[in-house]
Amino acid sequence: MSQNRSLARLRRVDFSLTAEDRAFGEELRAWLDEHLEPFLADTETEVSDSSGTGGNSSAASHQRRKAWQRLLNDGGWAAVHWPTEWGGRQTTPVQRLLYSEIMAEYRTPGIYNPNGIWQIGPMLIQWGTEEQKKRWLPSIITAEDHWCQGFSEPDAGNDLANLRTMAILDDENGDHYLVNGQKIWISTAHLARWGLFLFRTDPTALERGAKHEGITAFIVDLESSGIERRPIRDMSGEEMFNEIYFTDVQVPVDNRLGGEGEGWLVAMSTLGHERVGIAGQITGLSADLRAMIEAARALNPTALEDEVLRDRLARAWTELELTRLLVYRALSKVIRGEKNWPEVPFSKLQFSMLAQTLAEIAVDLLGPLGLLARGGADAVDRGKWTRLYAFQRYSTIGGGSTEVQKDIIADRAIKLPGRTRLS
Ligand SMILES: Cc1cc2nc3c(=O)[nH]c(=O)nc-3n(C[C@H](O)[C@H](O)[C@H](O)COP(=O)(O)OP(=O)(O)OC[C@H]3O[C@@H](n4cnc5c(N)ncnc54)[C@H](O)[C@@H]3O)c2cc1C
Repeated sequence: MSQNRSLARLRRVDFSLTAEDRAFGEELRAWLDEHLEPFLADTETEVSDSSGTGGNSSAASHQRRKAWQRLLNDGGWAAVHWPTEWGGRQTTPVQRLLYSEIMAEYRTPGIYNPNGIWQIGPMLIQWGTEEQKKRWLPSIITAEDHWCQGFSEPDAGNDLANLRTMAILDDENGDHYLVNGQKIWISTAHLARWGLFLFRTDPTALERGAKHEGITAFIVDLESSGIERRPIRDMSGEEMFNEIYFTDVQVPVDNRLGGEGEGWLVAMSTLGHERVGIAGQITGLSADLRAMIEAARALNPTALEDEVLRDRLARAWTELELTRLLVYRALSKVIRGEKNWPEVPFSKLQFSMLAQTLAEIAVDLLGPLGLLARGGADAVDRGKWTRLYAFQRYSTIGGGSTEVQKDIIADRAIKLPGRTRLS
């Protein structure tokens, strides 16, 4: 191999900012400089949620998220990856990365419709009819209605294609499907008016051993008759996610997104948006790391002299930087038109590990103060670190668990011999 070729292979992070990218970043920073502080001063301070899942479930927090998303939308910053005709800025992948990093660097509040903006909106844009786009996209971007995403079931989590909630076309009229079954772990479904759901429209697919077939995507009005939402309390004490039971629920044919049997493709079509989001989450974790060191410096300074803690901090910082480069490398591949593989499952693994590691370090750095939970007068940073200690357990489960990510890497990236391959 020539020297040039081997150098090219080594140069894996190779994108630079164009004049348009730089202008985009500067415009966003200028807008945030003008609007963020007054917004924060005007609204009640919530526990910052670097997980981005909307985990903080108080009513005040959701009102604040709504107000922030509306302000962003007024400035054209709510859904930058959407086409301009629907209120976005049609950003390039590099601009999307810049956006998520700058928003994390400024520690902006969460938005009201993260699922709607990042996953469901792009699915509607790609798969929806003009009628469907006109009907639903405005309510997502303006935060008029809350949206949730209903995929998981008791026996369909990592193995999502095993889902069994049935949607059967009504024989008599043919204008609606009849839905029966159960979803679980659906974040913020109790707040949602609408949701993007996956149901099985072809019951024979499972028997035929073709579980990815016969799945169809639907937009569901959660106020429909026959829907029951039951909140689930998680270990951080919040009731953020729900079980949803469907009993003879009528879902109009017009609410089907894509064709019958195309649900798997619809669901997988927006995974790329989630991946770019990891860059912002890594920037958010770096800001968390600096903030927890500041908190320890002010409240428990001797912890910073502890050799073991210093070592853990240095390792965490190094891992954060490595992960940032991993995401940049994935982006470089996307720009070159290559598959961003195996960086994608690796960065998910790294993020999960780091989110939990940092939460543990934060609590240890604060000593006894690290045990004071939210609501207490002396709780540090309004109990943020204690809450994250419990809440970040989610990161090795949600969006595909760590064990399964490792299986994927073993099978498809390293191609380890002697394994029973994942289906
Ligand atoms: C905070 C949070 C928010 C969520 N929000 C939503 C939401 O809004 N909408 C939604 O649809 N879902 C949501 N989920 C559900 C999430 O997608 C599932 O929890 C996830 O897919 C894992 O599925 P499961 O919980 O059924 O675990 P399972 O898939 O049953 O896994 C259980 C355990 O078995 C292991 N395991 C499973 N298969 C294998 C394998 N092949 N090899 C090795 N080990 C294996 C797993 O690693 C795990 O440890 C949320 C979850 C969390 C934690």
